[in-house]
Amino acid sequence: MSIDSATARIRPGESWRNWGRTEAILPVFAARASTVDEVVEVVRFARQHGLTVKTVGAGHSFSGIAVAPGVQLDISGLDGLLDVDLPNARVTLGAGTHLHRLPDLLEPLGLALQNMGDIDRQTIAGATSTGTHGTGARFGGLATQVVALTLVTADGSILRIGDTSNAELLPAARLGLGALGVIVEVTLQCVPAFLLRAVERPAGFDEVLDDFEARATVADHFEFYWWPHTDGVMTKTNTRLPGDAPREPLGAVSEWLEDRVLSNGVLALICTLGRVAPALTPPINRLATRVYGNRTFTDRSHEVFVSPRTTRFAEMEYAIPLEAVPSALRDIRRLIDDRGWRISFPVEVRVAAADDNWLSTAHGRPTGYIAVHRYVRDHHVDYFTAVERIMRGYEGRPHWGKIHYLDAEALAAVYPRHADFVAVRDRLDPDRLFTNPYLDRVLGP
Ligand SMILES: Cc1cc2nc3c(=O)[nH]c(=O)nc-3n(C[C@H](O)[C@H](O)[C@H](O)COP(=O)(O)OP(=O)(O)OC[C@H]3O[C@@H](n4cnc5c(N)ncnc54)[C@H](O)[C@@H]3O)c2cc1C
Repeated sequence: MSIDSATARIRPGESWRNWGRTEAILPVFAARASTVDEVVEVVRFARQHGLTVKTVGAGHSFSGIAVAPGVQLDISGLDGLLDVDLPNARVTLGAGTHLHRLPDLLEPLGLALQNMGDIDRQTIAGATSTGTHGTGARFGGLATQVVALTLVTADGSILRIGDTSNAELLPAARLGLGALGVIVEVTLQCVPAFLLRAVERPAGFDEVLDDFEARATVADHFEFYWWPHTDGVMTKTNTRLPGDAPREPLGAVSEWLEDRVLSNGVLALICTLGRVAPALTPPINRLATRVYGNRTFTDRSHEVFVSPRTTRFAEMEYAIPLEAVPSALRDIRRLIDDRGWRISFPVEVRVAAADDNWLSTAHGRPTGYIAVHRYVRDHHVDYFTAVERIMRGYEGRPHWGKIHYLDAEALAAVYPRHADFVAVRDRLDPDRLFTNPYLDRVLGP
């Protein structure tokens, strides 16, 4: 197949892998677009050649959602601030902007994101399209902060969706799995810049679970990690403070020591030792509960929300009703004990407010998240399949960007607006220009 001259930024594809090394593909073509016109050009090129087109963000999804067998489109050139509406604390960004660029863009405006997940390597369109979230019983995921967006649709036209145009499409498009078109611009509702006071403390497994709902709902941002084979958890409780409150950041040395060396370095060591000598995992995990998590500091919100992640892993995360978390986590603990597995990676528990995005994991219900991980070199399928069975017993909804094994029929049973989303997809992408095998599985062909 030849590449025509009008599409100079389209070249033969090169092999691609996601961050978690759980997906790989050799796309037929790889394209780069730095303007909306170039995106339109790529969409038309794909149509003409009978290929699908899939935008890839930072490749940080563990599921096959970003896999691009046809034309792989990189829009990282569409980045930065495009517009500022300061009185309403809204900013419009190129959709390829990486989250780690936002503090530099927002701080001079006195603004910040309302909430963030664990890392900031993702693009804004990739993160919102999969329902990326942080923790906080009064706060929704990143997509709840999207007040408008612009799509290039399958026929190459530009569709603006927001409060004043096509507003009925907003609950579908802001968390759209990349299935409705190429997002080229995103308008975010921000908040005045703020600080977070972080309190990290070890606690007992039963002590935290017995009191889980109260802890999760009283705090602004509560989460905890449970180390399998131990009775210990590490709690993180973050309290929002005004932007001009006094900062007490971690010193550079202690941040390096605790976040880089202890969190990531020791985790890598635990995982490697666990592979060589699985019997060592329980005592090492017990040691880890004593090493991690006993510190207090106050810093700018993004410095507290986000930490580096240098040890690669595979992840599954399920959203269940908030009140079901203690029972579900105890089931997972029993599962690990019964099967005799040695799990070196902690289990992460977070919460979010109910929201109205149709495919949000927190759609219509206050939500608790339980995430299980395995080191990149460990076999994850048996563990994840068994955990999925437990979570389905609690009407669990899987994170779209993380590993799960559900199909469209099973997902329609837990997402009340699944059929409505598919109807919007039928309207905007009747020929499935933006599909891939993952979307065929979770939405239907
Ligand atoms: C180390 C690590 C930590 C993580 N922490 C969290 C966390 O704390 N909370 C959480 O919820 N998730 C977390 N995730 C998951 C991650 O946030 C999501 O998978 C997110 O989608 C990744 O963003 P990305 O830019 O890499 O998108 P990709 O994975 O590249 O793409 C995701 C989807 O977005 C689509 N997409 C991307 N750009 C566009 C566009 N312009 N238009 C249309 N569709 C588009 C893609 O086609 C694909 O469907 C984590 C992942 C990793 C690897």
